[in-house]
Amino acid sequence: MKKISIALIGIGKIARDQHLPAIAADPRFDLVACASRNAKVDGVRNYPTLEALLEAEPGIEAVSLCAPPQPRFAQACTALAAGKHVMLEKPPGACLSEVRALEEMALTAGRTLFSSWHSRYALGVEAARTWLATQDLRAVHVRWKEDVRRWHPGQEWIWEPGGLGVFDPGINALSIITRILPREIALVSSTLSIPSNRQMPIAADLRLTDTAGVPVHVEFDWRHGPREQWEIEVRTADGAMLLSQGGNRLTIDDREVALGAVHEYPALYSRWHDLIGRGECDVDVRPLSLVADAFLLGQRERVEAFVE
Ligand code: NAP
Repeated sequence: MKKISIALIGIGKIARDQHLPAIAADPRFDLVACASRNAKVDGVRNYPTLEALLEAEPGIEAVSLCAPPQPRFAQACTALAAGKHVMLEKPPGACLSEVRALEEMALTAGRTLFSSWHSRYALGVEAARTWLATQDLRAVHVRWKEDVRRWHPGQEWIWEPGGLGVFDPGINALSIITRILPREIALVSSTLSIPSNRQMPIAADLRLTDTAGVPVHVEFDWRHGPREQWEIEVRTADGAMLLSQGGNRLTIDDREVALGAVHEYPALYSRWHDLIGRGECDVDVRPLSLVADAFLLGQRERVEAFVE
């Protein structure tokens, strides 16, 4: 088993909540250093920038990028140009063209680029995909709603261009439906509700269709609470499926499907290790392209100003 030396960049909420524990629990990775403008991680060497880290730590083989999407393209270019394998947090970029450019860089350099979609590793996702493969679909309804003040306190970047607004959590649902539905889906129309003092939407309503004409209705809302609702309902000719709790609970015809313990980030690191071993990239931009389409076709409505 080859141990891969890695660095973690952008130490904030997701790096501390998920990446550090997942790496610590995986003996195939050796966390050597971190780079963050302000934060530091105990027990490893810390640098204020990725550039300083790469200069001082030439032996590092792989870099996992956890900062918000806006600075990620420059960081990924720097890491790939230095010959490192790269894992991108979701969304893989602030826009589509930068992800395509990164993929070309990685392929040219022979490095592994992995655009991670953690929600695809939620426990019920593969079982849902398997069940849906044999079904005659009639309608899909996504409800992905939460309280922005609870889940994104103080995150100003999320309201700026490239921050995606309510699509930051919503893209997790899109990453799941692009995995579990048996056919490709296309956007038909979208409505974006944008606070009068912000750039990005606080809510969005999308109408899509699959290639057989099955309607897909997607509702994202950040004005919801106190309990979040992260669920995908699929009605078929013979029954119904509900994937809830962000993909970690599955019922089929009201019967609970037995699933194991939550393992999204350990599974992501496992997948990245396998990809590096095989010399492959995994760059799926379909969830981000649906978001881009929602902005391209979006009817904008101005709603009440958002004050944290
Ligand atoms: P965050 O805590 O607001 O930001 C992460 C860290 O990135 C910050 O603490 C900051 O550390 C650094 N950073 C912020 N802006 C930067 C900039 N302009 N340039 C360089 N570094 C910057 O965000 P997060 O919640 O961890 O989310 C980061 C990414 O993970 C997002 O793409 C998000 O969609 C994804 N994600 C988040 C969650 C979640 O539950 N929060 C779940 C899954 C995925 P320094 O000040 O030390 O540089």
